[in-house]
Amino acid sequence: MIPRVMIVEDEEPLTTLLRYNLEAEGYSVSTVLRGDEAEIRLRETVPDLLLLDWMLPGVSGIELCRRLRMRDETRALPIIMLTARGEETERVRGLSTGADDYVVKPFSVPELMARIRAMLRRARPETIAAILKSGDLELDRETHRVRRGGREMHLGPTEYRLLEFLMQAPGRVFSREQLLDSVWGRDVYVDERTVDVHVGRLRKAINRGRSKDPIRTVRGAGYALDEQYSP
Ligand code: CA
Repeated sequence: MIPRVMIVEDEEPLTTLLRYNLEAEGYSVSTVLRGDEAEIRLRETVPDLLLLDWMLPGVSGIELCRRLRMRDETRALPIIMLTARGEETERVRGLSTGADDYVVKPFSVPELMARIRAMLRRARPETIAAILKSGDLELDRETHRVRRGGREMHLGPTEYRLLEFLMQAPGRVFSREQLLDSVWGRDVYVDERTVDVHVGRLRKAINRGRSKDPIRTVRGAGYALDEQYSP
């Protein structure tokens, strides 16, 4: 089951960034720019999770959240509120209005993605795979264990996130810049060569004592997890 996420946000660059990252992780994404439009849309179809901006034209995120909690169809809809810095005093109000979680802008995209996964795993366990598999690789998101051919491997936190990200979309080529944005976050300043260093460490960890390398370097483009490789 593909998890469906609706983004209600009037800042289009942010919507584009979120859509890109959610789609890269395999979510189906819909976007709405206004609060009143979102309310109409949510009467027709209820997603698995709602990313809701605080300040919106039409109806505010807070008011929309309150209204959604009054309807049976959306009473239990997982909602993550996006708030701007300076609205911190309003956070509590946000949660008491019925949001399940909130993030303060500017936020780290990998951090938000992790919260979305965690929330979906609780609320819609059927939509989020607890175990990712590709070839003879197996990654368990609950225990953070990684195995290859049944043998457990020990990865650093960055290598783990990198592998998890690649395993979500086997075969897809990601540029170093995309990997930086999705695994490290845009707000963290690191050189693109950092990606090469961590891919090198990941390879070393998963390929120890093996001849096949599941990570493919695509010259001039980036990296992909090869779905074709046979273990
Ligand atoms: Ca806004």
